Amino acid sequence: MTRILDGKALAARLRARVAEEVRDLRARTGIVPGLRVLLLGDHPASLAYVRTKEKAAREVGIDARVERLPAETEEARLLARLAELNADPAVHGILVQLPLPRHIDTVRVLSALDPRKDVDGFHPLNAGRLAQLSGAPAEDLLVPCTPRGCLLLLEEALGGLADLRGKRALVLGRSTIVGRPMAALLLAHDATVTIAHSRTRDLAGECRRAEILVAAAGRAELVRGDWLAEQAVVIDVGINRVPSPDGGHRLVGDVAFAEAVGRVAAITPVPGGVGPMTVACLLDNTLRACRAQLARPTLTRSSEPPS
Ligand code: NAD
Repeated sequence: MTRILDGKALAARLRARVAEEVRDLRARTGIVPGLRVLLLGDHPASLAYVRTKEKAAREVGIDARVERLPAETEEARLLARLAELNADPAVHGILVQLPLPRHIDTVRVLSALDPRKDVDGFHPLNAGRLAQLSGAPAEDLLVPCTPRGCLLLLEEALGGLADLRGKRALVLGRSTIVGRPMAALLLAHDATVTIAHSRTRDLAGECRRAEILVAAAGRAELVRGDWLAEQAVVIDVGINRVPSPDGGHRLVGDVAFAEAVGRVAAITPVPGGVGPMTVACLLDNTLRACRAQLARPTLTRSSEPPS
């Protein structure tokens, strides 16, 4: 029997915990965690994502606001706004919605964030700390939301993370947003990690060896049922729009779900698996960022953003 991992239910539990802790924090200190989401341009998918994040954050008591800037905003203008938000004590989390327009240097923008406010975990300092991680992340380390959500789903599937020790884990995809930080988290928990990507030879063979598979390639149903080891645990990050028979669209993952069910031990559905966990982890990161800033109000030298 294949267990379908209910990301919606797990995310609802995490959101409820965050809401309770935000209430407690407010009652004890009068402080409300503040989140600012910067969106350049009006790409429809990005607009939908930022609205979802803003709504979810407000529901748990976070003071969340989306700031929209024109697509043609100059990089210097964006950096100036980030500097203001970095300096604003009411703002504990800053998220710059990606992708940015082509005329803007994404690495420069992400590097300009105060790393303690980097709730997406993409600042080089946070990425570097994650790359060096062994065991569970420290309370003040901001880990990218999607991989962290995947790890929580694995914890749920395995009944704890100790079970990752020594397991053969395959991460399909090497993006800085999902694949690489996912591999770092699995390695930190002692899994034997392989990263596959678009140049990998014999992807099916790599998948068949995996006891844990995290698929983040963005290719509809790339992974077929007979590529999967029996009793594998599968986390499907992919979100792909494909035409549906009624002339509309439907969302599918990177794994052929119907073929996997009955074969693997556990799998996340698309939608309703990783997506809700990503949003819930953003709220938790914002709360963590707020707590860390209250505990240590000034930047240490090592975490100073580059000038
Ligand atoms: P990306 O395009 O940046 O990276 C895709 C990776 O997959 C690349 O490393 C590439 O080498 C690899 N790849 C592509 N085609 C391949 C193939 N045929 N064989 C082997 N490897 C291949 O994408 P991303 O930002 O990492 O996102 C991946 C997927 O996850 C997308 O579908 C995206 O929409 C989805 N996503 C979902 C969430 C969520 O919350 N559920 C969050 C982020 C991304």
